[in-house]
Amino acid sequence: MLDADPPDRRRFLEASLLAGLLAPVLLRLPEAAAAEAEACGVAAAALGEAAVGKGFRLLAQYLERRYQGYSSPVNINGRGRVYVRHTGRDFGKPIGTPVRAVAPGRVVRNWPGRPGQPASKTTFVHGADGVHWVYAHILPALQPDQEVRRGQIVGHIANPLGAFLPHVHVGALKVPYRNPDPAVNHAINAGRAFGHTAAEAQANALRYTHDPLLAFAHSLGRGC
Ligand SMILES: [Zn+2]
Repeated sequence: MLDADPPDRRRFLEASLLAGLLAPVLLRLPEAAAAEAEACGVAAAALGEAAVGKGFRLLAQYLERRYQGYSSPVNINGRGRVYVRHTGRDFGKPIGTPVRAVAPGRVVRNWPGRPGQPASKTTFVHGADGVHWVYAHILPALQPDQEVRRGQIVGHIANPLGAFLPHVHVGALKVPYRNPDPAVNHAINAGRAFGHTAAEAQANALRYTHDPLLAFAHSLGRGC
């Protein structure tokens, strides 16, 4: 879902493939391990299991510094060179794996994906507690305005671009996707926060998104 121009798109795809191959290595980075322990007494694995069941691979993490291999700014159409921060958690499982709502809510919309990305789709669910849950890279199974129970199938893992390992991106926005404020749109874009500096990208991520694990813990009634 990166809105990159063609030269950068190619670089992005190459970096994505490399990141997929390196994912098991990247997951052993100390900073990643430290950040993934738990939130409000809920283990990170619990969120992945709620979404896709046991046996997933954790491919990317909230505020990961080297998302998809990038540690330097990338060109984004209309935005110049910007830094990006990943704003969700990516759980790898085979194509076709059912993806379940991690919290109750109502479907706001299904996003059809971009031309050339026919299988890259996103379902947005407005949570009962005001959290806007994002399930990306899935084929949606629900229609807008449908009520969603926790554990209900919202879609199935699709192949985003053929370059990523199949996965679902689970995000938790503080604001609706396609917010009327363009600055907010620039900041979240469903899976990434942008900024002209790394610090700005991180600040936008924190301003406009929840850590999905923390939002999940709160949805389970954990106060912390
Ligand atoms: Zn992701």
